[in-house]
Amino acid sequence: VAVLVDPVQRLANFVRLWQEGYTGFKRAMDLLEIGPEIVDRPNAVDMPEPKGHIKFEDVSFGYTQDAPVLHHLGLEVKAGEFVALVGPSGVGKSTLCALIPRFYDVSTGAILIDGTDIRDVTLSSLRRHVGLVQQDVYLFSGTVAENLRYGRPDASHEDIVAAARAANAHAFISALPLGYDTDIGQRGVRLSGGQKQRLTIARAFLKNPPILIFDEATSALDNESERAVQQALLSLAKGRTTIVIAHRLSTVRHADRIVVLTGDGIAEEGTHDQLMAGNGVYAGLHTVQASI
Ligand code: ADP
Ligand code: MG
Repeated sequence: VAVLVDPVQRLANFVRLWQEGYTGFKRAMDLLEIGPEIVDRPNAVDMPEPKGHIKFEDVSFGYTQDAPVLHHLGLEVKAGEFVALVGPSGVGKSTLCALIPRFYDVSTGAILIDGTDIRDVTLSSLRRHVGLVQQDVYLFSGTVAENLRYGRPDASHEDIVAAARAANAHAFISALPLGYDTDIGQRGVRLSGGQKQRLTIARAFLKNPPILIFDEATSALDNESERAVQQALLSLAKGRTTIVIAHRLSTVRHADRIVVLTGDGIAEEGTHDQLMAGNGVYAGLHTVQASI
């Protein structure tokens, strides 16, 4: 474990984080602009609770016509499967995931859930069944309980506590000055990155969607937080289809299947052992990360 961090490296990290922060903001703004174009088809029906089989059929997509991000992508995720998506920054991992709840529509091809084109069902029913835990943690001014209830507005206090326990968050919440009634807004208690992430996982527990998409945070968590978040994620993944954009080896190792996305599409897929034995892109990424 590196203890001394090169100051130049630290500066580079800072610049990168700052840029990512800005990009995140810009994308949120873009989403607001693009959102209204995505509407229900006139004959859209409510999607019944899906088993969670997801199929990308020859999917192409770009935010602009001249800059395609995904090209004729084919990917199938079985109901209940845990898939880790890995690959270099900017290849389209977050984009691929944003297509599932229809934050954007594909340019060509289709995405099917349990065999139904997601454009044939109502947006509200689709998004009810797809839980997205994003990298930027959206907590708002208010108490811990209010922030958790966002996952399911009619949740009782007991439901909230059960979700927090499942997300490995109950112990730290209980230790806050006012427990679940502690204000975590700007003037409230400051939480660590790992604590915030566990709150968003608790929200997802409350929502209890059959399909879960988790964009793992890249920022460094201390070892204890990382383990707590990891355990929370694994228990949340149980019994549902889970796609994780994985940055940590510890997450990747737990996946049923690892899909490696590069600029040319899906470069390889398999279990950790299969991909290591294949000595391809994944084995290379793994070696670089393991040496840090
Ligand atoms: P990854 O998650 O693999 O790092 P992304 O899906 O975030 O990659 O981005 C893929 C490409 O799409 C990048 O070139 C990125 O700059 C671009 N991109 C992402 N979101 C937007 C957006 N809202 N508007 C325009 N371009 C975007
Ligand atoms: Mg991303």
